[in-house]
Amino acid sequence: MQARQAVIRATGGPEVIEWQTVDVAAPGAGEVTLRQTAVGLNYIDTYHRRGIYPVDLPSGLGLEAAGVVEAVGAGVEGLSVGDRVATFGPARGAYADIRNVAAASLFKLPEDISDETAAAALLKGCTTEFLVERCARVEPGQAVLVHAAAGGVGLLLVQWLKAIGATVIGTVSSEEKAALAKEAGADHIVFYTREDTAKRVRELTGGAGVRVVYDGVGLDTWEASLDSTGRRGLIVSYGNASAPVTGISLGILATKGSLYNTRPTLFDYYADPAEREAGAARLWQMIRAGKVKVTIGQTYPLEQAEQAHRDLESRATSGSTLLMP
Ligand code: NDP
Repeated sequence: MQARQAVIRATGGPEVIEWQTVDVAAPGAGEVTLRQTAVGLNYIDTYHRRGIYPVDLPSGLGLEAAGVVEAVGAGVEGLSVGDRVATFGPARGAYADIRNVAAASLFKLPEDISDETAAAALLKGCTTEFLVERCARVEPGQAVLVHAAAGGVGLLLVQWLKAIGATVIGTVSSEEKAALAKEAGADHIVFYTREDTAKRVRELTGGAGVRVVYDGVGLDTWEASLDSTGRRGLIVSYGNASAPVTGISLGILATKGSLYNTRPTLFDYYADPAEREAGAARLWQMIRAGKVKVTIGQTYPLEQAEQAHRDLESRATSGSTLLMP
């Protein structure tokens, strides 16, 4: 069986993404062959491509995909040919039409969750689940700041936070993105590229600041996050879309009001099989209940991943992005 798969042989700009035709071997022990129907684009793919998160080269790219099991290797239990499944890694290689993947990294898809929804929401939605319910444990009535509120994770965060009764302030870079964040339920919008974010947040919270800040932007928003967080509040630094935050002196957390700061990762919160199953089940439940709608902002043919990376990194995308084999 032949497959088209992306490979990077060097780290760098989107142009380092190459496509190759490979023979797919029969699945090894513990593996299945997956025919992929939808691939999810994630910001972390750009960190791997650029080397911000180190990878051994050559490397496949992409973590998230949905598809159908084509063949099952030795020792695999609970999966059969024809099963619909999805994955969010941690192994790279999702930018492909067919590939072998570890069975342990797969989630069986419920009948009412489409492949597109799964590929658009599994990684970002499970991230949202742990960020809201297990990391910061947001409670009804709390004020929360969500940076990049119209992004893939951002739109899911806004909806999930509203579903549990939080007051949500979202930051965005454009009017179009403001409309999307509002539609998702954001109570207030701050245009962080042209407004003083912390000043606006203080105004909107009667001076108190927010209980929790979700910051996936990183360096560009770090100062605003510090100044927007209320006394003993929590900054959840969960990504680096602008650049990583480095060289912080812990004393700053004291001077801003005994703040907490955490740098969580999905792969830790989903390391345990029971946590994985429970987290994904919670995501499907939120989608099924209509509390969280998955916005697929744009789709590209799989082999236009290079353009999709350019658009993601130039802030031209909103919601989730799919690459279609
Ligand atoms: P997004 O769809 O949110 O895209 C990134 C958005 O960030 C842009 O659309 C843009 O929104 C905003 N942004 C602000 N500054 C910049 C900049 N300088 N360059 C590019 N974008 C910028 O991506 P994802 O939903 O895939 O991921 C969001 C964040 O969540 C990322 O940081 C990602 O790494 C992180 N993440 C972390 C996980 C974890 O386990 N810790 C798991 C999953 C995701 P705007 O135009 O409104 O400014």
